[in-house]
Amino acid sequence: RSAEFLARQRVYESNARSYPRRLPIAIEQAAGSLVRDVDGNVFIDFLTGAGVLSLGHNHPELVAAVTAQLGVLTHGLDFPTPVREAFVEAQLAMLPEPMRDRMKIHFCGPTGANAVDAALKLCKTATGRGDVISFQGGFHGSSHAAMALTGLVSQKRPIPNGVPGIHFFPYSYCARCPIGLTPASCATNCVNYLERALTDGNGGVPLPAAVVMEMIQGEGGIIPATTEFVRRVRTLTRELGIPLVVDEVQTGCGRTGTWFAFEEYGIEPDVIIASKALSGIGTPVALILYDAELDTWAPGAHTGTFRGNQLAFAAGVAAAHIVQRDDILGNVTRRGAQIAELLKPLLADPWVLEVRGRGLIWGIEFADPASGRPSGRLAAAVQLAALRGGLIVEVGGREDDVVRLMPPLNVDEATVETACSILLDAIRTAKA
Ligand code: PMP
Repeated sequence: RSAEFLARQRVYESNARSYPRRLPIAIEQAAGSLVRDVDGNVFIDFLTGAGVLSLGHNHPELVAAVTAQLGVLTHGLDFPTPVREAFVEAQLAMLPEPMRDRMKIHFCGPTGANAVDAALKLCKTATGRGDVISFQGGFHGSSHAAMALTGLVSQKRPIPNGVPGIHFFPYSYCARCPIGLTPASCATNCVNYLERALTDGNGGVPLPAAVVMEMIQGEGGIIPATTEFVRRVRTLTRELGIPLVVDEVQTGCGRTGTWFAFEEYGIEPDVIIASKALSGIGTPVALILYDAELDTWAPGAHTGTFRGNQLAFAAGVAAAHIVQRDDILGNVTRRGAQIAELLKPLLADPWVLEVRGRGLIWGIEFADPASGRPSGRLAAAVQLAALRGGLIVEVGGREDDVVRLMPPLNVDEATVETACSILLDAIRTAKA
């Protein structure tokens, strides 16, 4: 039956589909970490709606929260409502203490890309500057501006006349250093290069409105920035008066073991972009949190119809509560350590270039040992073999050569063990 659904989808929806091209199943129902397809096959889900379903599918308390809100108020534009206010308070309370009082919130929904666009507009308004710095291999969404900001070339559609004034700099991708350095010979040359470009009066880049970065490049292949890289970028942007925007659409809401990934780096950004897992159950919501000093928008300067999804707010209040009550961040850290341990055998595999991640966001990068070239072919074969074994994983990376794991944040120990064992089997099968 999956095959029939897929065939009909091809007729109705042309070639713009993405996930089912690689994961050829039609899904019908899901609970917790498990998904059932229309043929009754059950899979462990380590894709979780692209990181959206942070508490698993259909968490009963989130279902109850949404159900209770239905029939009360579903859509409220940007009028104040009790549930909106509760959501705002819950979000601000999740920030590190020193940031709580000085950050403001603006809803930009419904998707992450909308919030990325909003962050660009806000920083351009606040600084009066038009240029923006972004990083090679990053991903920020599919709207026109978010895609222009995206450095992940494989994801960029060939759109002529993209948003002008976006400058790309190397990200700290040490496994495949863009300028061929090794960690020993590096001395954070990527930041030195950025610093030089920003301060060079003779042909560097104009002082930008913002530097936008992911703490871990997600779609780009689960590449955590090095601590030194992030701290130097923070120091540099602060010295030069450039707002630092962190895109936490994928890494936010507990995915890395802290509420936001920037916390582990010991920095404070000026703007935070969040979306995916805010509601925990897939009811869409997107927002920016930003330093009050950037608050230069006149009333009505950035509007949008879908900025008041009360169902998302209700679920999000419950999700934030559950994260705290059930020590979900502790589970993320423990299960992350378990994944690191279970995947250790891969470090000796000549086809595995690197195993990277933290918390519950992991990537396994494959390369052909003969040529050293990225092996997208093997990553795709592993993904399919894992599906056949009963595990859904995603593929990403600059050459589609990284298998990505993003389990629900409340995944249990036994499920992680089963999933990793399916994955190791899938790698053996795919290599054979
Ligand atoms: N930023 C990052 C870091 C993302 O990973 C994504 C989505 N994968 C986006 C922005 C865009 O979010 P959306 O697809 O909801 O527009």
